[in-house]
Amino acid sequence: MEQPGLLVDVTSLPLTEIEELPGGGLRIGALVRNSDLAASSLVRARFPVVAQAVLAGASAQIRNMATTGGNLSQRTRCGYFYDHAAACNKHEPGTGCSALDGFNRTHAVLGASDSCIAVHPSDMGVALAALDAVVAVTGPDGARRISLADLYRSPADAPDRDTVLRPADLITAVEIPGLPEAANSHYRKVRDRASYAFALVSVAAVLRVETGKVARVRLALGGVAPRPWRAHLAERELLGRAATEDSFRAAAEAELAPATGRQHNAFKPELAHRTIVAALRRLTTRTGAS
Ligand SMILES: Cc1cc2nc3c(=O)[nH]c(=O)nc-3n(C[C@H](O)[C@H](O)[C@H](O)COP(=O)(O)OP(=O)(O)OC[C@H]3O[C@@H](n4cnc5c(N)ncnc54)[C@H](O)[C@@H]3O)c2cc1C
Repeated sequence: MEQPGLLVDVTSLPLTEIEELPGGGLRIGALVRNSDLAASSLVRARFPVVAQAVLAGASAQIRNMATTGGNLSQRTRCGYFYDHAAACNKHEPGTGCSALDGFNRTHAVLGASDSCIAVHPSDMGVALAALDAVVAVTGPDGARRISLADLYRSPADAPDRDTVLRPADLITAVEIPGLPEAANSHYRKVRDRASYAFALVSVAAVLRVETGKVARVRLALGGVAPRPWRAHLAERELLGRAATEDSFRAAAEAELAPATGRQHNAFKPELAHRTIVAALRRLTTRTGAS
């Protein structure tokens, strides 16, 4: 699909380390392999949601090769994007979007536009969005840092540009801030097969419950939007509320109220609703906090 004029091999750059940051955070080199990231004892202890998200993606063989920077930069799996005969604004701006009235079962229900309803595919990105990760980038104008939330663009004006990265930009690392509550975190992915399939819906959740109430919560959704979707509305709804199934349902409802399904994906808002509730329930059950 891509026809680059120049191919640069970055695989020998020294960006393969996972380092500890002051305050309990981690700096993950852009060339850390997905398998190594998921196996890291630091990641598993401090940010289990990241390890679980990575292990929920692709296959063992792919994870052995795939890198942190590459996983975040992968393009959509929308079938029309890969079909030269289809209209696709992401592939060729101005041609239209065959998915709007086509087979849109896997497509977006939040944050899309009439120019593109493809979803972002990375599982890792969903977990990192929940954790307020920051992407370190270096380019012709020097180094800069971009929050993961700002890395991905809305498809409205230029759907062919997935991210705010500029030509010759290189992701060098991803930094996760120290978040003690993230030790109680979970990634739940719903898909057509138990393994080796992209998410229909996924949820990254972090929860701390104190005296029966939600003291800290972080939620992000995958498979529903053109970017990892941080569920701020649900988080606001939950903070300070009793950590009960009723609160979880109300929070999911708040987040998904604006969701719009199309012919084949109208099931997604309800599926996302249930997946949010299930992920939060799992975190309260594990801590015995509810
Ligand atoms: C069959 C299949 C199933 C998959 N299933 C899943 C899944 O369920 N969930 C999931 O999350 N992923 C899935 N993946 C994606 C996979 O896990 C890899 O993350 C993905 O293929 C990227 O691999 P890579 O690191 O080799 O990047 P590459 O393929 O080498 O690169 C991908 C893109 O990122 C750019 N890039 C690479 N590194 C950098 C960098 N440091 N800075 C800037 N740009 C960069 C490249 O130029 C390219 O455009 C699947 C892939 C396949 C083939």
